[in-house]
Amino acid sequence: MRKPVMAGNWKMYKTPAETAQFFEKFRPLVANSSHCEIVICPPFTDLAAAVAAVKGTAIRIGAQNIAWAKEGAFTGEISGPMIVDTGATHTIVGHSERRQYFGETDETVLKRTQAALDFGLTPIVCVGERLEERESGRTEAVCTAQFLRGIAPLAAAQFAKILIAYEPVWAIGTGKTATPDIAADVHRVIRAQAREAFGKEAADAVRILYGGSVKPDNARALMAQPEIDGVLVGGASLDPAGFASIVNF
Ligand code: PEP
Repeated sequence: MRKPVMAGNWKMYKTPAETAQFFEKFRPLVANSSHCEIVICPPFTDLAAAVAAVKGTAIRIGAQNIAWAKEGAFTGEISGPMIVDTGATHTIVGHSERRQYFGETDETVLKRTQAALDFGLTPIVCVGERLEERESGRTEAVCTAQFLRGIAPLAAAQFAKILIAYEPVWAIGTGKTATPDIAADVHRVIRAQAREAFGKEAADAVRILYGGSVKPDNARALMAQPEIDGVLVGGASLDPAGFASIVNF
């Protein structure tokens, strides 16, 4: 059995004060949600406030990106040790918005994933096709290539520690959710790649989350797919009641 992971990506929203207000409302709503792991990924500037706000609960906090180097002349980057120092335990890597707007490539995704693992953080590694790639029948090829270049080079012991998020770019922030069947089909492709690279046991164990316009009213149908091991939620994770109802699908 793979324990579901219900993760929120706040993108570039909320200040530390708003973070504290969110958790004030969110905490009691998920106090009994032991069926899943909950991870919230706010902007870097909110990490410390978020960690303080979830102290004593099972909620975990993650960053939205991580530098591949430990320290150095990398203006604007935040390193693994800096993230760890806040008390965060996870980090998103390779989100499609990073790939689309900030030049993230499969090669840098791999380096950032390795850095996260080196510093003891759990990376949530994102893959997913763009609309034109889906429409031209290249979904499987694109996700496979992203897996082969960004994930397959990891050592087996590293792979055992990552989470993968399948996030079709056309479904992110657009209100268009992949149907549960479409999502599960791609999850099977990713798991098949994992089997080829790391063997059956590792592939059966890895948790693959779905992300893309997950809302309180579609979370249950997505989570009913045995292939979907959780969700990565953007917009709908900003509202404490809404995200709690997704968590408690
Ligand atoms: C995301 O930011 O990872 C995401 C899936 O966004 P949204 O839920 O808003 O589509």
